[in-house]
Amino acid sequence: MGEQAKIWTAKVLTLFPEMFPGPLGCSLAGKALQDALWRLETLDIRGFATDRHRTVDDSPFGGGAGMVMRPDVVDEAIGHALASAPELPLVFLTPRGRPLDQDLVRGFAAGPGVVLLCGRYEGIDQRVIEARAPLEVSLGDFVLSGGEPAAIALLDACVRLLPGVIGKETSLDEESFERGLLEYPHYTRPAVWQGRAVPEILVSGHHERVRAWRLGQAEALTRDRRPDLWARYADGRGQPNQTTKG
Ligand code: SAM
Repeated sequence: MGEQAKIWTAKVLTLFPEMFPGPLGCSLAGKALQDALWRLETLDIRGFATDRHRTVDDSPFGGGAGMVMRPDVVDEAIGHALASAPELPLVFLTPRGRPLDQDLVRGFAAGPGVVLLCGRYEGIDQRVIEARAPLEVSLGDFVLSGGEPAAIALLDACVRLLPGVIGKETSLDEESFERGLLEYPHYTRPAVWQGRAVPEILVSGHHERVRAWRLGQAEALTRDRRPDLWARYADGRGQPNQTTKG
């Protein structure tokens, strides 16, 4: 008898468990959560503090502004999260991490789930980061007040890739980044809006020409807006397509 597949599981270590599920309780991710296509567990880091005041932070050695999350408390919380799920990768959301991208998201979604560690204040004591060696992931080159919005974004991106979450799985194939390209523009009714007509090709009924037009649009957008992606894409397919602009 085969073992039943485990549900994709997210464990979030946070000082603000009330921020979850938040937006993840709505729409696609929320429905998938209700349907048990994935599981969300939040662990309140403060619950692992041992003193009377439930202290989780202290002033930085060396001086300076702000507070730092204590290594002993954070380590206890991580240990608790991993004890029942040692197979889950530990991810620390931090501005100095590897920028989150679709490759990383695909990797997480294909695995058993994630344990997400959310920092607050000035950050987390470096010694627990070294001891636990999490994968450090950034949402982008800006500073959030905490890791929670980054955790929510990461989970949203993962959950929509899980089997059964998006009805027609084929609709994911052409999305931005799936082929190393940004996605082509979309149009719907009315066919003419404020004097702007949808591109004629889209109402032509020629599926092959529509497909080629969309690819051309995706290539042109990527070339114009994301030279970094374009260089990689062009590299992968031999030569950049210079005929598709506009
Ligand atoms: N002092 C830190 C610095 O200058 O890099 C910023 C600390 S920030 C106010 C508090 C927490 O928010 C961080 O420990 C991290 O967990 C989270 N955070 C902030 N910006 C982030 C980003 N771009 N991506 C992921 N997490 C972020």
